[in-house]
Parts: sequence; C-alpha cells; structure tokens
Amino acid sequence: MSKITKVYKEIEIAVGTEYISDKDFMKAAYSRNVDPAFPDRWADIIVRPETTEEVSDIVKIANKYKIPIVPRGGGADLVGGATIEGGILIDLTRMNKIIEINEKDFYCEVECGVTWGALLSELYKKDLTTGVLGPGSGFSATIGGGLSNSTAGFGSTKYGLVPNICLGVEVVLPNPQGTIIWTGAAANKYSKPFCRYGVAPDFTGLFMGDAGTMGIKTKCSLRLFPNSPYKIQKNYILKKDDYNKVFELMYELQKEVKDGIHDLYINPRVVVQLLASQAKIRPPKRARLSGPVFMFILEAFDERILDVYIEQVNRIMTKDNVARPFEWTEIDLDLKLAKDWKFDFKFPYSYFNKFISLAPPKISCTTCHKIPISSIADKKELNS
Ligand SMILES: Cc1cc2nc3c(=O)[nH]c(=O)nc-3n(C[C@H](O)[C@H](O)[C@H](O)COP(=O)(O)OP(=O)(O)OC[C@H]3O[C@@H](n4cnc5c(N)ncnc54)[C@H](O)[C@@H]3O)c2cc1C
Repeated sequence: MSKITKVYKEIEIAVGTEYISDKDFMKAAYSRNVDPAFPDRWADIIVRPETTEEVSDIVKIANKYKIPIVPRGGGADLVGGATIEGGILIDLTRMNKIIEINEKDFYCEVECGVTWGALLSELYKKDLTTGVLGPGSGFSATIGGGLSNSTAGFGSTKYGLVPNICLGVEVVLPNPQGTIIWTGAAANKYSKPFCRYGVAPDFTGLFMGDAGTMGIKTKCSLRLFPNSPYKIQKNYILKKDDYNKVFELMYELQKEVKDGIHDLYINPRVVVQLLASQAKIRPPKRARLSGPVFMFILEAFDERILDVYIEQVNRIMTKDNVARPFEWTEIDLDLKLAKDWKFDFKFPYSYFNKFISLAPPKISCTTCHKIPISSIADKKELNS
C-alpha cells in the first residue's frame, strides 16, 4: 500500500468517508485560488474536518507520514496560498459555527471557517459590527483567511487590519502531537475570550499573517463595535494627477477627521478612466478626469457629528482649489453608488463588481500591498 493510501485510510477513520476525497474532479476544484497568474496545484487528498480534534488528528497523521498540509478557507487568496502540490489540503469551511455573540462585552467567538457574510449577517441584526468587514474579494472569504493573510479591506481606514480586531485564537500546532492551544484571555480556562493583551506575552501575533505556516486556526474571538447608524459616501476628484498632493491630503484627513472616516479609497486616474471607458450608460457630457478620485465613507453616532465630518472633509479637499466634489454618474449613469448607497451588503458587493473586477490584475493586486505613505521612497515615480 502506498504512503498516500495509508494516510488516506487513517484520515478517513478520523473524519468519516464523506469528508475526504482523492477524486480528480475534487482535486481540480481545489487546485486554484482567485489569482490570475498562478498554475494549478493538485493536492493528493482533500479533507473537510468538522472539529478541532479532527484537525489535530489530521496533523498527527501528516506528521507520522511526513506529508505536507495546507489549510484553506474561502480560497480567495491572490497568490496561490491556499493550494498545494501533492500532500493534504484541509478545507475548513465546515468549521463555520458562530459560538457566541457577547453584546455586553463586545466580542464574538467563532470557528475560523465562518465567512464574513455569515458573521456580519448575524451581527447586523444586533446593530453590531466587526469594524473591518473583510477583504475586497467579498463575503465568502473566511475569518481564518483574514487572520492568516493580515487582510485589509472595508473599514480598515478606521479599524485597521483583521488581526487588529483579533482577541485570541485557538490553533492546532504543526507539531507531531497536533497540540491545541488558545491565545489571549481564553488561554486562561476560567476566563472569557474578551481581551488579547495583559494575560501573557502576545502569542496571538505569532499566528497573524502567517499564511497558515504556524498552525491551523480553528476558532477565534473578535472585538465587536456598535454599528454607527449615520453613514454617507462622498467623492472628490483631484484637479491634477499629483500623488504628492494625495499624500498631503491623506495626512491632513488623518490628523483632523480621523475616526469620522470609516473608509477612504483612492481610485487612481487610470482606474477611473477604465471605468469611464466601460460605462454602461454614458452621460451626454462626460467629466474631465483630471486626477485620482478620493472615495470616502464617513460615519458617526449622531447626525450632527456626521455633518461636522462632512464639513471638515469638504474644507480639506477643496482648500486651494485642489479637488472638487465628484459623482460616479459623471462617467456612467449606471454607477449610482453615491445616491443609492446605504450601509448594507449591496455596497461592498457593488464595489467589488463595478470597481475591482473591472480592473486588470496588476491594478487589483495592488490592494494587497501594505506600504506606509511616509516611507514611499520616491513619490515622484508615482506621478509618472
Ligand atoms: C478580487 C480580490 C480582491 C481582494 N481584496 C483584498 C483586499 O482588499 N485586502 C486583502 O488583504 N486581501 C484581498 N484579497 C486577498 C484575499 O481575498 C484575502 O486575503 C482573504 O482574506 C482570504 O480569505 P480566504 O478565506 O479566501 O482565505 P484562503 O484564500 O482560503 O487562504 C488564505 C491564506 O490563509 C491560510 N488559511 C486560511 N484559513 C486558515 C486557517 N483557518 N488557519 C490557518 N491558515 C489559514 C491559507 O493557507 C492561505 O495561505 C483579494 C482577493 C481577490 C481575488
């Protein structure tokens, strides 16, 4: 019997016949992520565990036979991270339970295979949010993928990356024993998973952005926030294609408006031109696309405070006549995001469809580069 056949049989006993496969159509289905460039990679075995103990059993078997393992969530990775050539691919999407939503202490505990869509649907019913709402790839990406890729996405301007809201993780370590550990407050069996720091050194950080190399995340707790009831989208177009100005404006906005800005996307002029060239319903007179478009989502708990944020943003953006208010309908009457927009799932979905999916791979990939503005060596290069 080959080594892989032995591994298959042992894992089959651990998870059950229905949740393991070595069929070609399954290997093909799991051979890619949502990336434009990377080749197919076919695993030997696809397995879909349901519990942390099953994950631990798989890790023990893989160690015994020295077979590589790669975990997979929604498979929306941009760089082939959730595929493997040979070895075992662990699909974690059966581990999708929302274990607790604690409204009083503002945290939730979930299994890492739960999707952003499933979690946010439950949280919104209770006027709660995770603040950062997952990646631009959409709501079928998982929390585990977000933690493992240090994902930035909707809400990151204000709430940071996905690891910023993580209060602790349950991880199956890649050692021969498949040891199960918790980090953060939950490492103390008498505590609740409500805080990350102050319990011990921050072991949670070891597993953030690790692309699954430090272990398999099976559960986690996340910080929750009350969902601000007042939100609005505002857009401005720069009068010149000048990235030095972009950096200056971003600095001022961060200093003066800060928490009022839920999100700020800078759409490069080339993306705006691309959108204009693909307009579904062209307006009779199209706008001159002079520079990048700043797309703001502002939020507040009080309508009067939202008005203050709107006024502050407008003052900064229009000072010295560097930018003017902009509506997407100036390039395409079908892009009515600004008018239709309510803070629901429709917005990020439309954003993905109308903005990211239109852009050629080179442009959409830049969303994953996390570069501090102040350390970009030669800003002039960006202007050329
Ligand atoms: C169109 C498009 C737009 C995107 N926009 C963004 C964006 O705005 N910001 C951004 O940061 N990324 C973005 N991405 C990349 C990707 O969607 C995100 O990183 C997302 O969070 C991945 O989640 P996932 O569940 O699909 O993870 P997967 O793709 O399944 O896995 C991602 C990585 O995490 C590991 N992993 C997954 N689950 C676990 C687990 N439970 N334990 C340990 N390791 C695990 C995998 O091995 C892999 O290395 C985008 C991708 C596309 C295609």
